[in-house]
Amino acid sequence: MNAFTLQKELTDWSIKNSGYDEHRNYIGLSVILDCPRIIYRRFFNHTGMPMELRLRTRYSYEVEEIIKNRFKAIEVYSKGKEISIYDGLVKGHTDGEIQTIDPPRLVALLEIKTVPATDHIPKTFHEIPRKVIWQAQAYMLYGYYNLTFCFYFARESGLFRIFEIRPDPEIRQVIIKKVDYLVKSVTLKELPICECGKCL
Ligand SMILES: [Zn+2]
Repeated sequence: MNAFTLQKELTDWSIKNSGYDEHRNYIGLSVILDCPRIIYRRFFNHTGMPMELRLRTRYSYEVEEIIKNRFKAIEVYSKGKEISIYDGLVKGHTDGEIQTIDPPRLVALLEIKTVPATDHIPKTFHEIPRKVIWQAQAYMLYGYYNLTFCFYFARESGLFRIFEIRPDPEIRQVIIKKVDYLVKSVTLKELPICECGKCL
């Protein structure tokens, strides 16, 4: 084996084990803030992902495992569940749960976000991107949680910060309407309206 074949074998394995779902045909709750038309097109034109993206997906996956191990070490972690509604047309994959037995007993959602630089970690709750807030709101809504611990981790420094996200009734109402609308659109194959102003 030379460097070339070693490189190829490891790349092939990494891509095969990137955790990327080749046949994903569901509405993903993790990107529910996206324009309805983009979500619709993603649903029907789900084709491959470039190699670079898959390698990054694999890497993020590994970093997440390391973080989960730390939560396991302090005995508050349990495995995440898959959220699946509308017969699997709408799904969300959670990173795990934070559970405590001692009073007050707690079962909260864990959402792990890794970012390249320390500067990319939000400094306050209001700096958390809307995309992340909406994802947490959707997961809490359909996964029946009242609290999300949003864990930000900077890959360059290992520094991290944990935020609490609580259910927001207004966002939830909008998500419920949007999910219903999207399910109807993909079922009837009717192109939904564009909200971003950039879709054709
Ligand atoms: Zn659009």
